[in-house]
Amino acid sequence: MTECPCGEPTTSGYLCRSCAKRLDEDLRQIAALWPESHTTLTRQDRVGPGGSRGSGGAHGLPVSLAASETRDYVRLVVSTWLRHLAGDRTPEDVRTIAQACRWLELYSSAWLLLPEVIELAEQIADAAQRLRWLVDRRADRIVVGQCDVCGSDLTAYERSSEATCRPCERVVDVGSVRQARIDALMDYHGSDADVAELLTSMYGVAFTPATVGRWVDQRRLWRNGMGLVPFRRAVELGAQHAAPRRRRTAG
Ligand SMILES: [Zn+2]
Ligand SMILES: [Zn+2]
Repeated sequence: MTECPCGEPTTSGYLCRSCAKRLDEDLRQIAALWPESHTTLTRQDRVGPGGSRGSGGAHGLPVSLAASETRDYVRLVVSTWLRHLAGDRTPEDVRTIAQACRWLELYSSAWLLLPEVIELAEQIADAAQRLRWLVDRRADRIVVGQCDVCGSDLTAYERSSEATCRPCERVVDVGSVRQARIDALMDYHGSDADVAELLTSMYGVAFTPATVGRWVDQRRLWRNGMGLVPFRRAVELGAQHAAPRRRRTAG
């Protein structure tokens, strides 16, 4: 009897019962998530702070590079193992990554008898994990900014003070990411809707595009040639506007 990498005794082959079960689950999960990961790749579901808006294209490319890297990685892992374990005997009907995973799972009790199943289980677990990150990102996490190292989305659970860059495995403070984004905006102009959205997120008080329009009418704010207003001035006005409201709410 040998020992599983997790330290438990193995029953048959090179993995213990629970690690063998996890390998099956990971394979099933990759098969299930694979088609969904394509949606993430093309950003049909892109969710940013405050939901997706037409004007929200300030950051990010139309196709997410992080998503395409993840898919390349998963494709490489699964197809390498398929080639290694099936080779020329790969069944005709196994063409996609999802089909390959289902096939690998179907014969997993045979892989347990091969020493390389340890590496297979590790790599499949890693691939499944990355795919889960990619797909579930939109379920309960919001994009708070972009990583300054690799440019991927930094995502955080709502109300969490920490955001993560999945590819770099960096954890950063949401407050400082948000502040850096705000600082970066200060020399720019934005539409009334963009400004209202920013002020609402900064001050926790609802601002509408109409409020911004009113400031322009009152000549406290001005528009540039493209009809956009300066963020820096809008933020000052927003602070004045928000202060009495917040005091009232607090008291
Ligand atoms: Zn184990
Ligand atoms: Zn990064």
